[in-house]
Amino acid sequence: MVKIISCTDLQSWVKRQKKQERTVGFVPTMGYLHEGHLSLVKAAKETSDVVVVSIFVNPTQFGPNEDFERYPRDYDRDLMLLEKAGVDVVFLPSVSELYPEGFDTYVITETLSTKLEGKSRPGHFKGVCTVVLKLMNLVNPDYMHMGQKDIQQCIVLKRMIQDLHIQTKLIIEPTIRENDGLAKSSRNTYLSESERKEAIVLHQSLMFAKNCIDEKNYDVNSILEGMKKIINTAEKSKIDYIAITDIKHLEPITSVQFPFIISMAVYIGHTRLIDNMLFEE
Ligand code: AMP
Repeated sequence: MVKIISCTDLQSWVKRQKKQERTVGFVPTMGYLHEGHLSLVKAAKETSDVVVVSIFVNPTQFGPNEDFERYPRDYDRDLMLLEKAGVDVVFLPSVSELYPEGFDTYVITETLSTKLEGKSRPGHFKGVCTVVLKLMNLVNPDYMHMGQKDIQQCIVLKRMIQDLHIQTKLIIEPTIRENDGLAKSSRNTYLSESERKEAIVLHQSLMFAKNCIDEKNYDVNSILEGMKKIINTAEKSKIDYIAITDIKHLEPITSVQFPFIISMAVYIGHTRLIDNMLFEE
């Protein structure tokens, strides 16, 4: 596995691969890797000839009162896991490598970025779109693999890729969960033991919604109410949002029309967790 820290070295490496007509798969991450990330790597290895993984805790996608400084980091462990997973290149740029003095260009999906996560985290998707576009320009991947765990991120980036004629196909991979249903996340490490137990209410509420839909109970309001009730059984929970939306515009729907998404952000103590479920006919 080659470790690259400079943009120009990465570009040269990619150029050499393309010359040999190898397809390039890309998995962008913020590190502190878990099985969710590794499932993306596995998918990338199955799809492309060579695989690049980036590890970059991107400051521009964190709000001023968010956890940028605190975000968990363990680069040695990450490198060991990626080596074992058979990754070809890990790209580990510094903040000044991607945002040198004078950096002044940002990209944003104007409308999608204001919905759901974007409403709660103003500026978040501006940071995400900008960094992912920069990384895609450096890696020039044929395929980019991302997790459904961050479904709005996938929808926003698909829009950006289409709008800007980028020749990368974004492939959405399923959410990997703990045995009790909690979606794996680097932020789960913030949870205390008791909070960790309470955190299962997110998935439980989604399973409740799934049962309603399976039983053809299509009353959106009663589904939302039932979900809220389940989440509120956790003493330390505080709902940021729960929404049932279409998948294209992320607008709330009032009657069930497939496909749609139920997505949520819930605080368990001070930790903000997100989860979602996609419903297709
Ligand atoms: P992050 O390091 O949190 O920025 O995530 C990097 C990539 O891993 C994103 O595409 C995430 O959607 C994906 N990811 C994070 N958690 C999971 C999970 N539990 N299952 C599948 N993919 C995930």
